[in-house]
Formats: sequence, C-alpha cells, structure tokens
Amino acid sequence: MLNDAKAKKLAIIYDELYKLYGDCECPLTHETPFQLLVAVILSAQCTDKRVNMTTPELFRRFPDAASLSQADLSEVEEIIKSIGLTKAKSKNIVETAKMIVEKFNGEVPQTMEELTSLPGVGRKTANAVLPNAFGKPGFAVDTHVKRLLNRMGIVKSDDPLKIELVINKRVAPEKLGNFSHLLIWHGRNVCHANKKFDCEKVCVLNEICAKRKK
Ligand code: SF4
Repeated sequence: MLNDAKAKKLAIIYDELYKLYGDCECPLTHETPFQLLVAVILSAQCTDKRVNMTTPELFRRFPDAASLSQADLSEVEEIIKSIGLTKAKSKNIVETAKMIVEKFNGEVPQTMEELTSLPGVGRKTANAVLPNAFGKPGFAVDTHVKRLLNRMGIVKSDDPLKIELVINKRVAPEKLGNFSHLLIWHGRNVCHANKKFDCEKVCVLNEICAKRKK
C-alpha cells in the first residue's frame, strides 16, 4: 500500500467521516447475497428508497436465483415497473439468476471477475456486493464518491476505474466498503451536487478540502 500525502489525507477523511457516520449499513434492503445483487442491479439510475419499495414484492415471489431464473419476464417487468429501465433490468436480473444457477451452483460468486461476467453487473455493482454481502474488499464509485473525491483534491478524474485504483492503493482493504458508504452519506447529507452550502459551517472536512481552500 502507498503511504504518500494522498494516503495520509484519505486517512484523515476516513476518520472524520467515521466519527460522523460510523459503520454504515447497506441502504438496500436484502436478506441474502443474491437479493443484494439484484437490488444493486435495480438501483442503477434509481433511488435506494424506490428500490426498497419494489423489492419486497419481487423477493416474496422470487426469493432466490432458482425461482427468479424460472420467472416470466412480463411478471418481473410488472413488479419493477416503477424503477425505470424496466425491460433491461428485468432481463438482466432473470439472466443473471439463470447464470448463477447454471454456472455457480445457485450461489452468488465472490470474485470481481466472476461477478462482472454476469449480465448487468459492472465493477460498481460488484464493488457494492463484495463488501456488503461477503465482507470482502470493494470500493464502489458512484456519483457522490466521484464528486467528493474530486472536490477534496484526491483525484482529478471522472473515470470510476481510475478513481477506484487510486483509493485501492491507499486505503486498507477492510475499510474500502465502509469508505464508499461514508462518502455517499456525506455527499447526500452535506456536500451536495447543486445546492449552495457553506463549507465553513457545515463540513468537518473543510480544513483539508481543496475546493473549500479555493
Ligand atoms: S469542505 Fe465543502 S466542498 Fe469540501 S467536502 Fe466539505 S462540503 Fe464538500
């Protein structure tokens, strides 16, 4: 692991945000790794709240990969119609369920390579599933994570993979999952995308933030 100036700054950011938010629960309701995987796929371009309103009925009818792999697509589309991108997401979750049954014995795989071989599963989804379902390292880069790390001067990039690699080299593996949650919470609660806000008054990171210093 690198121990450069960025790593030191990231350690301060982690500690300050940890004091505020602690160990964060995954906001997507689920009871199994499979249900988490499905919920994360459904959450693309949709709020967690909306996904959580939709998945109870979906998981009541199709609680696992075996049942969802047999589902009628039109039934799935009807259940998830309020979350957007309905056709693509329905197809992806049913195809993913089929592949999990056929290739992985009905169990969600636990490596980045295997997870990203599933339909509709990219690195962001895999990085959300690995720590939250299996306690493995994974740093999911969403829009909040991207915005905060750019504003704080840690990265100058919108490329999620580049950002992920910068962080993976500098933050302890066991902290990666929670670090992503901490940044998302701070982005939602304080460092908003568009609203005007007063960094001096509202933000515990104002001493070390590049944007605030400007
Ligand atoms: S100091 Fe301001 S810009 Fe920097 S992270 Fe905090 S709220 Fe965002």
